[in-house]
Amino acid sequence: MTGTVYLVGAGPGDPRLLTLRGAELLRRADVVVYDRLAPAELLALAPAQAEPVDVGKMPGSCPVGQDDINRLLVDRARRGLTVVRLKGGDPFVFGRGGEECLALVDAGIPFEVVPGVTSVVAAPAHAGIPLTHRGLGSSFAVVTASLADGTRQSFARMATAVDTLVVLMAAGKLHEVCTALMDAGRSPTEPAAVIASATTDAQLTVTASLSELANEANRAGIGAPATLVVGPVVRLADAIAWFQPGTIENVDPFDPNPSAQPALRERSS
Ligand code: SAH
Repeated sequence: MTGTVYLVGAGPGDPRLLTLRGAELLRRADVVVYDRLAPAELLALAPAQAEPVDVGKMPGSCPVGQDDINRLLVDRARRGLTVVRLKGGDPFVFGRGGEECLALVDAGIPFEVVPGVTSVVAAPAHAGIPLTHRGLGSSFAVVTASLADGTRQSFARMATAVDTLVVLMAAGKLHEVCTALMDAGRSPTEPAAVIASATTDAQLTVTASLSELANEANRAGIGAPATLVVGPVVRLADAIAWFQPGTIENVDPFDPNPSAQPALRERSS
């Protein structure tokens, strides 16, 4: 019998942000195909005999091509195996989940998509930035700084169309992106934030005006993965910031008898 492929959103970094459905599927996986942004700790949920396949993509390089990944998913499912395809954040937000689904449709392989907590909302949330807030923002848009064909994103269309802009894949292009947004009409004094490695103990947030953000982020050593947020809602960050990196508790979410005072997690970096 043909196996099923589960495209599972792994969440933004903190392994506890995996969904219950994702955890259930990982626990009965025969094969786990994962990439760079999927939290490594989640592999421990899979059975010891499950086959882990790392198809990690570093920015700008691609050790395993998308066609090879598609073929791998089809091949393992045809062998009757239960395949979990673990993807950072949500599989359908800049995760090429749609391409993998189309390949599975073509091959006649059954599949299920398990949405994940996307960095689009999780990164701002962990920096104390609500994407909407009465009086400050009633709309938001999500854009990528890098297009698949390597051309530049055109910010002219959406720069002033929404109150809050969330830009993914912007870490190496902050100067270019902020300048493009200002050229397209966003005010240089508008508040902006960049949040790197959000939800993990290594989270780093820099807030500044749009015109200063790239320099400040550079000074602070912001690196990928990072999410850029631009808009009046960023003003709330100081007041709301609740997350302190380094204080994530080491809790096993499946432990039926959790200890009352959990220890802190050991820093991996
Ligand atoms: N499917 C993913 C996005 C993949 S594109 C999701 O839904 O989250 C990769 C981009 O996501 C990165 O360049 C960065 O902009 C963002 N990203 C992923 N993990 C992040 C994290 N822990 N902190 C900040 N941004 C993150």
